[in-house]
Amino acid sequence: VWNRCLQFIKDNIGDQAFRTWFEPIEAIELAENALYIQVPSKFFYEFLEEHYVKVLKSALTKELGSKAKLVYKVKMENTSGKKQPFTEQLPSTQREPVKTQELDVPVQTKNPELKNPFIIPGIRNVKIESQLNSNYSFDNFLEGESNRLARNAGMAVANKPGGTAFNPLLIYGGVGLGKTHLAHAIGVEIKDKHPEKTVLYISAEVFMQQYTDSVRKQTRNDFIYFYQLIDVLIVDDIQFLAGKSGTQDVFFHIFNYLHQNGKQVILTSDKAPVDMQDIEQRLLSRFKWGLSAEIMHPDFETRVNILKNILYRDGVEMPNDVVEYVAKNVKTNVRELEGAIISLIAQSSFNKKEVTIDLAKNVIEKFVKNVRKEISIDYIQKIVSDYFELDIDTLCSKSRKRNIVQARQLAMFFAKKYTKSSLANIGSQIGSRDHATVLHACKTVDNLLETDKEFKAHFEDINKKLSM
Ligand code: ADP
Ligand code: MG
Repeated sequence: VWNRCLQFIKDNIGDQAFRTWFEPIEAIELAENALYIQVPSKFFYEFLEEHYVKVLKSALTKELGSKAKLVYKVKMENTSGKKQPFTEQLPSTQREPVKTQELDVPVQTKNPELKNPFIIPGIRNVKIESQLNSNYSFDNFLEGESNRLARNAGMAVANKPGGTAFNPLLIYGGVGLGKTHLAHAIGVEIKDKHPEKTVLYISAEVFMQQYTDSVRKQTRNDFIYFYQLIDVLIVDDIQFLAGKSGTQDVFFHIFNYLHQNGKQVILTSDKAPVDMQDIEQRLLSRFKWGLSAEIMHPDFETRVNILKNILYRDGVEMPNDVVEYVAKNVKTNVRELEGAIISLIAQSSFNKKEVTIDLAKNVIEKFVKNVRKEISIDYIQKIVSDYFELDIDTLCSKSRKRNIVQARQLAMFFAKKYTKSSLANIGSQIGSRDHATVLHACKTVDNLLETDKEFKAHFEDINKKLSM
């Protein structure tokens, strides 16, 4: 019966999907209307339940009629963490399945919220949902001197994924300069030009979460296998992997597999490879195999173009001199440029006021002030090191000199106070320390504030500078 089911399933889903998800299944027993099958892991069961319920149901109903029932047995994982071999040839009735999931056919997936958000149910194929945001396209990624190399390399990769020298393509640059946008645009373009390709966009942070989850659930192999199915892998913000050696390790293997098989890898980072700390050398060297393209701050002309594009998109008209005023005064990054023009549009429509330079001045002033509240670790390092007349390298160094240690601890304290960064991230940015060091720094600062008047004065000075 099971073999006939398999044949039916095979005819209805892709070859690769079949090999992955159905070949490892063992049929154990057929009792009345129930077919007992054994799957290698819980992940497997969940995956089947979520994605192949329909085809399983059809196959079974065809073979066993409408009362057909499917019972999954999950190979047990014992407490020591090793998979227990499940090889004894006892008659199946004597087996004690430790985990049995009953699946009545007809069936509804119990949890409509997919456990693995990257895979959508598909009868014909394992479909990996690309997670791409189609609002981010090449069309609305305006070209300028600052992004020309990255943009053109991205276009080339989109035309021939895996078939250019740009593998991996690493796009790096500061916050809000368009890395994520460009990464999506490449993926969207690939989906458009090569619909057969499996594309996946994922942030390094989510990648890490998935990985640690898989370790916890002992499904690390499934995790790796999943990534090997991908033709174009886009990992955003890989600097996040700093110091995460387990995740770096698994990423290294996935990277190698994909690269060796001519698959395209696209990475983004807020730093150039040379400046990435706490990333293993073997990974860094691979990042350099392809092309590293920097996105820089947009020049005035590009900023004007970006603003005009937003106005055009939103169907808003604004005098040229106002647009230029905004472009001249918001130089930090594109995200803030967008924020500024959007709040200007909002102001003018709330108050039904014409957009004039005066209104723009008003709004931009307020806007720039608000933006300032989002202080970056880099900015904190700069303020603190300037204050103590140190350079940032010294601040981050291993020096145990008292004034340097205190400066460093202050920087960590303020980074915790003013940014949303994790302790681990703060530690890694301020001189490759771990999260415990940052925690210790924060406690020390708290103590010194109560005991050391001079320290407290410094603290307040810096705090004032940071909140200006
Ligand atoms: P990053 O990932 O580098 O921090 P994002 O890709 O999130 O930056 O970009 C921030 C915002 O700026 C996004 O809304 C993006 O659409 C916009 N943006 C960045 N660069 C451009 C560009 N060249 N043209 C149009 N919009 C851009
Ligand atoms: Mg980004």
